[in-house]
Amino acid sequence: MRWSKDGVMEPTSIFEAASLQRSVRAVCGCGHASHFEAHCLWWHFQRRGWNDRFGPARNRFWCRVCRSNFRKKIRPVKLESASPTKGDFELPWPDERRWKEEMRRVR
Ligand SMILES: [Zn+2]
Repeated sequence: MRWSKDGVMEPTSIFEAASLQRSVRAVCGCGHASHFEAHCLWWHFQRRGWNDRFGPARNRFWCRVCRSNFRKKIRPVKLESASPTKGDFELPWPDERRWKEEMRRVR
């Protein structure tokens, strides 16, 4: 977690984004951005034992648009938090108990 210039707490991992009720956005160099529901995304990473910090997590994503245009998996240029919206992509949700355990463990 870090503080932005204007004093807003900014998540630096998927878990932190979820705990702040934020979504995660993967931005591709082509301009396409995908939005993900952060709790679901965290759980997806957790189950695979993947690092959910924005830096390393970036390598787990690829752009759908570039994939269909160039038949290549292009990694996003960055991951960042975003305001949640209705169209956010939802993976399977974590078990509520599991999520609460994780929140307790971190605090
Ligand atoms: Zn792209």
